[in-house]
Amino acid sequence: MNYISTRGTAPVLSFGEAMMTGLARDGGLYVPQSVPQLSFDQIAAFAGLSYEEIAFRVMRPFLGETFTDDEFRGLIDKAYAGFGHAARAPLVQLAPNHFLLELFHGPTLAFKDFAMQLIGQMMQAALAKTGERITIVGATSGDTGSAAMEAFRGLSNVDLFIMYPHGRVSDVQRRQMTTPVEANVHALAVDGDFDDCQARVKDMFNDFAFRDGVRLAGVNSINWARVLAQVVYYFSSAVSLGAPHRAVSFTVPTGNFGDIFAGYIARKMGLPIEKLVIATNHNDILHRVLSSGDYKTDGVKPSISPSMDIQVSSNFERALFDAYGRDGGAIAQLMDELRSGGFSVSQGALQSLRETFASGRCSEEETIATIRAEFARTGEVLCPHSAVGVKVGNDHLGSTPMITLATAHPAKFPDAVESAMGTRPALPPRMADLFDRPERMTRIANDLPAIQALIRERIAQ
Ligand SMILES: *Cc1c(COP(=O)(O)O)cnc(C)c1O
Repeated sequence: MNYISTRGTAPVLSFGEAMMTGLARDGGLYVPQSVPQLSFDQIAAFAGLSYEEIAFRVMRPFLGETFTDDEFRGLIDKAYAGFGHAARAPLVQLAPNHFLLELFHGPTLAFKDFAMQLIGQMMQAALAKTGERITIVGATSGDTGSAAMEAFRGLSNVDLFIMYPHGRVSDVQRRQMTTPVEANVHALAVDGDFDDCQARVKDMFNDFAFRDGVRLAGVNSINWARVLAQVVYYFSSAVSLGAPHRAVSFTVPTGNFGDIFAGYIARKMGLPIEKLVIATNHNDILHRVLSSGDYKTDGVKPSISPSMDIQVSSNFERALFDAYGRDGGAIAQLMDELRSGGFSVSQGALQSLRETFASGRCSEEETIATIRAEFARTGEVLCPHSAVGVKVGNDHLGSTPMITLATAHPAKFPDAVESAMGTRPALPPRMADLFDRPERMTRIANDLPAIQALIRERIAQ
């Protein structure tokens, strides 16, 4: 299995190499050269299997020679052992044809744990074979950073630097990043927004001297291995509702387009998914592009669902690559236009995107109203991101079962939940002392040379 760049000119890589590389050297994102297919019978045989076994069967065809089957099974088992629910990704019913996929039972209470725990295991195993040491740099709007800290803290061959927008993450998110005591993990509070953090990460990858000097690797959702890990729960949940014998649809609270792109891969592999519905908060660039074809950035507005406060949705490039018939040159040109404010998707590409994707937007008031209404109707307490999903999912209900992804635990965003319901959701007992642990972070300007100097200095120690 080989991986190619969405911009067409970077070297073709194996799975292991693509995982370690993150961003391609031509600025593009790695995608599989062709997507492996699972037959109707192979998918039907998933019924009743454990999450781990489904994970093995879904991901194995993408891995090539990187790990033996036994190694890979061992890594999957370790990755999910720390989850607080035996089903890993349980389904809960909200209404006759509407289901909630709870993806918040991992160690940092957001769906990011599904991919990050596994990529931590896979990188460690791959580095142990070669004896190499790497520097991982990531940008986060909150949840990626905490999941990465949890997955990489204490690993002997990795230094991890996480940049988050100062003052724009929730207290729980920040504390999950600033309280790990291990010396190999570093939280950087950047004076800027998430898009600034993400842009600095891309700058570092495009500075080849720096990139090669510190052996830079990435764990943002541009990393193919993360997307792949998220494909699994589309299969596990759809099969519990009767797939492949009947189709399902999904609604996905979306920011960087990583999670919903995993659903797109599941669909390409043969899972009968009718529609993938993009749910955005008032940062609705993806809803607007699906509606009008215009991808125009106009600045991030802070919201009560901060993990979706994004304008430049990195993984959308992967969907565009397919919609443009895998023409890397066309994608490179669109991304150039994006640097000067935006681009228009061609009619043909827009039509192709609309065959798979639908979209909807949820305002701040609707988010609060949805948390309140779902609690009254079902007793389910939603985090604000999941509420955005449920609102848009409700708007797209039809005869096909709808599965809405619940992307974080409500206790991760207690202020928004309290303003909707009047009560504060409690942290699970295993995290109850989070607010008593000392914090450790470095505040830094949104300035590439300053950030690079800090990283060089820390890894030299
Ligand atoms: C990261 C995140 C999202 C957005 O996921 P993308 O893959 O970036 O689209 C939604 N909700 C929560 C809670 C998140 O942490």
